[in-house]
Amino acid sequence: MSETLDLFKAALGLGEPWRVTRSDFDVAQGRLDLYLDFPRGARFACAVAGCDQGSCPVHDTEAKTWRHLDFFQYKAFLHARVPRTRCPEHGVHLVEVPWARPESGFTLLFEALLIEFATAMPVARVAAMTREHDTRIWRVLEHHVAVQGRARR
Ligand SMILES: [Zn+2]
Repeated sequence: MSETLDLFKAALGLGEPWRVTRSDFDVAQGRLDLYLDFPRGARFACAVAGCDQGSCPVHDTEAKTWRHLDFFQYKAFLHARVPRTRCPEHGVHLVEVPWARPESGFTLLFEALLIEFATAMPVARVAAMTREHDTRIWRVLEHHVAVQGRARR
């Protein structure tokens, strides 16, 4: 079983200290749930831009869930308790995870898929294809359009 979890870790491109600790495949519900975690004592970089504290202790954690790319016809979700670190300079801040941007309920790969689809078809069709609410898709598209606009200026 742990070999399967290692395979999921490799497929997700997870770096240290993250690992996949559990996978639940529910055929009836049509979904795959992967649970990510880090070992006790792990340290994380401070999330404040420009801070060079690369090894802050964990203060506490927040449970989060992200929609990930489908595995065939099955919806896939990642779950993790995301650490909040205590930086000697900046205090307590939520860590940035490598698979999603802050405040998003989708992984970066899922967002990339939404953007790719949305350049080729109407958002209503993207919503139907991905079985996702169009308001959530619009939120992602609007974020990336805003970022591109800032980059162009
Ligand atoms: Zn800091």
